[in-house]
Amino acid sequence: MAENYDQLGFKCGIEIHQQLATETKLFCNCPIDLVDESADAKVERRLRAVKGESGERDLAAKKEQQKSRKYIYKYYKRNNCLVELDEEPPHSLDREALETALTFTRMVNADIPREIQVMRKMVVDGSNTSGFQRTAMIGLNGELETENGKVGIEDIELEEESAGIHKRDSEKAVYDLNRLGIPLIEVGTDASIKNPDHAQEVAEKIGMLLRSTGKARRGLGTIRQDVNVSIEKGARVEIKGFQDVKNIDRLIELEVERQKNLVELGEELEEKEVLGDNVTHIFEETDNQIVSTVLENNGAVYALKIPGMTGKMKQEISGERYVAKELVDYARSQGPRGIIHTDEDITRYGLENEFEELEEVFNKTEDDVIAIIAAEEEKAKKAAEEVKNRAEMLLRGEVPEETRNAEQDFTTSYSRPLPGAARMYPETDVPPIEVTDDEISYIDSNLPDTLEEREEKYSEDIGEQLASQIVYSEKLSLFEDFNSVADSRVVANTLANTVPKLESEGLETDKLEEEHFKELFTAYSSEHISKGDIEELLKAMSQQPREDPQQLIEELVDSKSSDEEIRETVLEVLENNEDMVQEQGRRAQGALMGDVMRQIDADGDKVSEILGEELEKQLN
Ligand SMILES: [Zn+2]
Repeated sequence: MAENYDQLGFKCGIEIHQQLATETKLFCNCPIDLVDESADAKVERRLRAVKGESGERDLAAKKEQQKSRKYIYKYYKRNNCLVELDEEPPHSLDREALETALTFTRMVNADIPREIQVMRKMVVDGSNTSGFQRTAMIGLNGELETENGKVGIEDIELEEESAGIHKRDSEKAVYDLNRLGIPLIEVGTDASIKNPDHAQEVAEKIGMLLRSTGKARRGLGTIRQDVNVSIEKGARVEIKGFQDVKNIDRLIELEVERQKNLVELGEELEEKEVLGDNVTHIFEETDNQIVSTVLENNGAVYALKIPGMTGKMKQEISGERYVAKELVDYARSQGPRGIIHTDEDITRYGLENEFEELEEVFNKTEDDVIAIIAAEEEKAKKAAEEVKNRAEMLLRGEVPEETRNAEQDFTTSYSRPLPGAARMYPETDVPPIEVTDDEISYIDSNLPDTLEEREEKYSEDIGEQLASQIVYSEKLSLFEDFNSVADSRVVANTLANTVPKLESEGLETDKLEEEHFKELFTAYSSEHISKGDIEELLKAMSQQPREDPQQLIEELVDSKSSDEEIRETVLEVLENNEDMVQEQGRRAQGALMGDVMRQIDADGDKVSEILGEELEKQLN
């Protein structure tokens, strides 16, 4: 059934984060081309929430600190220096990143502030060694044309990428520092997106414009979407770090479904208090392995009575997600692995006696659900408080404003409260940058063609299909570098078809660099090698990426038979097959071709050309 998003009071805005493929990071000279290697060192830190300028401590910061986690940073010599460790002040803002970001800003007609001020944005999850992320607002009030009307681009920021999360548990979080500091453009739309399909169109369009700058990084995790979504009776939810733009519509559909079902569930339920208590004494003699292990380690068991929830905990709320997960997520956010409750099969846990006692203690009626949380004392207590509050909201049909994570099946799970506003202050280590009228008009007169425009332009030369293939591939910039060096159709075909083919055969084509293609296409355009040699050469180059490409070209050329050798062999074959030639004429070419190729190592196109010539001569 198609949802009427207008009627639901659907509101949605997206934030796109695109990494840039600049030479260096945003505030230091470390290269951004990350390679797969192991860390050179580990650094350990603990973060503390400090009061912001308003004097209030951020709620999200407090929650994070309650968890008192240890942070471990993996340091990579190749991609890190003291700046990423926060032991040296940031250098000035990278020009290449700034120019790219400003170019994008003008592509969506946004206004550029005359003074660009780098700010510190507080981060509380340890994803930055300094406890904040540096960010500069570089554009305001832009707009994007879509098939569903204009969507406002509220703001555009240039900022530093956070450290990549490697591992997280209740005690510690491990981050990779190599990603930290890569330039990132953040593009935020207003909330005028009309429905999930529209969100997808907007995300794809912005992605394409970013790529049109020619400086967008490609590959897994280099572009991420945050989705803000709510319905009228629901609440603003921010889904963080979604990477699969093709399924953003599904993600939003499911979140709307969740909010709608939560509201409906609340209408069926009665608003009541959820009671909770420490019930450790009831479990002292328990046979349940998990609970007894917890108690042996000075743990505790907390129980809650949630009125009216019998039969409701296993209702599906979005996709195949149960209502109970809404509560489990809140328990987990404090460390415990989950909850055990009476709306599931208690006999599975061998806890019938204990639950019988709990029912008496809490005066449980048939409709009430009793849930327990077993964990280390403090964690169990906090988890019980969280679940109590969340359950009371459930009874009221209230949707919490919160940050959520996308799951594999495009449903979402609770991650943390929405970050508060007390988060920004100026970065005094980086001087502000003036942007003059002249600079803006220079940018305006040098805006790149959009990908759609380029597709149309290249279609004339290489045909629509190949043009669309190459324009939306990662090889676009290589194509644009070399389409004037050699025949553009051959260049496009090599990049869009031959390279992926070799990759699918298991060759490490990602080791091929610009230099390889430069030598390859130059050799081809000067007729030093033929079209048929291209695949073989690319193979050799990706197998020996460190070898001088010219050397590899010479080796290939040397190994091939020369034109004279080919001609000699061709003449020999023609002589031996005189009868066949007489009988079949030009139709003999196929069979003769095979004969020649068995005798020499040569490029097929070349052999075919010479054989054709000689055959022609014999027939005349
Ligand atoms: Zn660095």
